[in-house]
Amino acid sequence: MERKDIILDAVEKNKELVLNAERWLWTHPQTGYTEWQAHEYLASKFQQLGYEVIPAGNIPGFYTDVETGKKGPTLYIMGELDALDISNHKEAVDGMSHACGHHAQVSALLGIAAALKEDGMLDGMCGKIRLVAVPAEEMIQLDYRESLLQKGEISYMAGKVEMMRRGFFNERGLAVMIHTNTNNDGIEFKASLGYHGCILKTIKYKGVASHAGCAAHLGVNAEYAAMLGLQACNDLRETFVDSERTKFHPIMKGVQSSVNIIPDEMVVESYVRSKTLGGMIRENKKINRALAGAAAALGASVELHDRHGSSPEYHDKNLMELAEECCAKLVGEDKVEFTYDAWGSSCSDFGDITAVMPGLQFNAAGALGDCHSIHFTMTEPWRFCKNSAAAQLLIAYELLKNDAENAERIITNYKPVFESVDDYFKTVDSISLDCDAVKYNNDGSVLINFS
Ligand SMILES: [Zn+2]
Ligand SMILES: [Zn+2]
Repeated sequence: MERKDIILDAVEKNKELVLNAERWLWTHPQTGYTEWQAHEYLASKFQQLGYEVIPAGNIPGFYTDVETGKKGPTLYIMGELDALDISNHKEAVDGMSHACGHHAQVSALLGIAAALKEDGMLDGMCGKIRLVAVPAEEMIQLDYRESLLQKGEISYMAGKVEMMRRGFFNERGLAVMIHTNTNNDGIEFKASLGYHGCILKTIKYKGVASHAGCAAHLGVNAEYAAMLGLQACNDLRETFVDSERTKFHPIMKGVQSSVNIIPDEMVVESYVRSKTLGGMIRENKKINRALAGAAAALGASVELHDRHGSSPEYHDKNLMELAEECCAKLVGEDKVEFTYDAWGSSCSDFGDITAVMPGLQFNAAGALGDCHSIHFTMTEPWRFCKNSAAAQLLIAYELLKNDAENAERIITNYKPVFESVDDYFKTVDSISLDCDAVKYNNDGSVLINFS
């Protein structure tokens, strides 16, 4: 019997377990760092399968190790727990819905765990498979996450980098995950080279309120300062390095004011997205200089708050090739579309993983309607869960068979963005910024400081 058929059999045997999980999780959506229902449900299912569950602690998320009994590298396979706050989705629960399909990812992860308990499934492999349920991938509800940061309950806004800090990814290895796709073209698996990283920005312009009619000369208009700041950033755009495709996409959050009052505050939120971490950091400094300079021009001040969002996600080409072959074995070459130069401007914290080890996130069909929209529906849950589980199990086998020769080759050829996880954290921690960027001195000089 071919390995792929052994795998498909083992997955098929656990269909009911997986589909029950998929339906249960769909009806229990919770947003990032609050996904306790999914955590409890899945942790208990993993335990019923006989796995030891190691929880993240004060946040949802856990891992379990599947030991082959032979020394070797660690393959991390992960699934995401979090939903979105899309209250007008027709199946939303408490204002939330799984409109990005993460519930199906973790259902497939449960299927992988169950299949690995079937006879012979670990035969021929070495090393370890670590199955990880990760929280908080979607970069939303930033005020809530900032409050967790301020209380010291988390160190990072996104779940995977938070798990990295907690040591979940400390072992030498490589990482894989499969996200839902909403294509309707018959293609089962799609992959691209990667995605942008991002810095999260909260920009608070502060002015002086006064009567807009008779005392405008006493006021400082924070709204105008913000508009000037955004104009300055627009003028900077042509200086961004073309190949890095840096994006700055601010929204003005509005004023607590009235038409006859000079507004004394305007909050702006934005990401700075870019294809490289260096580009993200470099262009963000220019943006901060422009935002601060605009405040000084109008006699206003500005608070700058920057947080690491996620690192650019670079899929390892050697790992992509191996995964593409596995997918083709499962569903046929004509149903696999791996594009080795395609790049997306969305961001995922899987990028933080690929900054320190070879990694690949790709997509499998089974849902329709755009991700993050009210139209997202899991039309064929078994199609997604079966293909996702089987593909990742076959990838695990191909990587870890023959003394993990393929995994070792990929790990050896991988050029890390950072030499170590410590170096990585030093860089992303340098992004964090809280400052009052403009100071007016008594001697009439103005100091602009945004570092
Ligand atoms: Zn999403
Ligand atoms: Zn997603």
